[in-house]
Amino acid sequence: GTDPVRSSGEIVAIHNAISAPHAIEGFPLTVGVSIGVATAPGDGHTAAELLRAADVAMYKAKRCGTPIEFYDNCIKSPQRGRLSLLSDLSEALAEHQLHIHFQPQLRMADGAVDTVEALIRWQHPEHGSIPPSEFIGVAEQTDLIGPITELVLRAATVGMITASAGDVKLAVNVSARSLQDASFADEVLGVLDKSGFPPARLELEVTERAIVTNVERSTYTISRLRQEGVRIAIDDFGVGYSSYQTLRLLDVDRVKIDRDFVAALTTEPRDRLIVASLIGLAHELGLDVVAEGVENAEIWNALTTLGCDVAQGYGIARPMAFPDLRGWLSRWNDVRVDELVITQ
Ligand code: C2E
Ligand code: CA
Ligand code: CA
Repeated sequence: GTDPVRSSGEIVAIHNAISAPHAIEGFPLTVGVSIGVATAPGDGHTAAELLRAADVAMYKAKRCGTPIEFYDNCIKSPQRGRLSLLSDLSEALAEHQLHIHFQPQLRMADGAVDTVEALIRWQHPEHGSIPPSEFIGVAEQTDLIGPITELVLRAATVGMITASAGDVKLAVNVSARSLQDASFADEVLGVLDKSGFPPARLELEVTERAIVTNVERSTYTISRLRQEGVRIAIDDFGVGYSSYQTLRLLDVDRVKIDRDFVAALTTEPRDRLIVASLIGLAHELGLDVVAEGVENAEIWNALTTLGCDVAQGYGIARPMAFPDLRGWLSRWNDVRVDELVITQ
């Protein structure tokens, strides 16, 4: 609108109307509402520009827990650094500020390297290193996540080939949005074809949330990829409310137990029971199990007792840059399992 004061009053009214409790068959229900506002021509000239600006503002509202945010304020506020991430992120892609770190996962039976997980890093010219938790969510709300996933896939498969990693598998995280994208499976297979990386050595880590967002589409993407030999792991298993549903609906290869459960494994009897039963359930279904967040020898030992298959965590190795991975892999080959050094 042209009159910001009048329109902000209208937006407040809209917000109030939606967020007021509604009686549904006599039962009071309340929904949380976050509104992002962008206005033409100041915030954009095309529908796409305006929607993107409104997205940024809504994202701020969600993060700050405020009901309404204006894109205008996002730009003026001292928070600018984080909120302009979105435009910086397209630059980052073009200017090679995004890198990949690699974190090994060990087979618990013999200590051999089973998989290496690719984890994205952003070295921002002004803000320094920005963790993926700060920008993957933002990227997912726009079409930027596509090129990011593709970048990770390309760079990591080429890296694994260069590192002559033997038959070690590569794990790549995939966002909900990509899984819903009808052309995603073909894009992945295209990257594999180009780099010559065998599909059977690629494992895509997807979260339950990503799958249940649109079960039909996820099923299509996942079965298409699995047909070609690509493996699928359920990431952050156990923290969602839909774990059983996911396993009912989909064929996957592996589950990764979330590190929240693993961390307290040795101190909380209840967590130990939950991890034990998650492992048992996965095995019954013919899936293998990775434990995340293995930070010390006690956790490693407890997981061994519980029959966990693969372990990943700071106690084994932190995510590392590519040159370090090469050295680490070649040194690790010379280590025997009884010498397994689990550091703090
Ligand atoms: P995730 O998939 O659960 O990745 C594991 C995270 O746990 C990584 O954080 C890793 O550094 C951290 N971690 C590993 N071992 C330990 C441990 O022993 N203790 C503790 N406290 N933490 C440990 P990071 O790299 O910050 O990644 C955070 C999340 O960002 C990832 O969680 C994943 O969901 C997302 N992410 C990272 N890279 C990508 C990517 O390329 N694409 C997409 N879509 N998401 C990504
Ligand atoms: Ca992961
Ligand atoms: Ca995880």
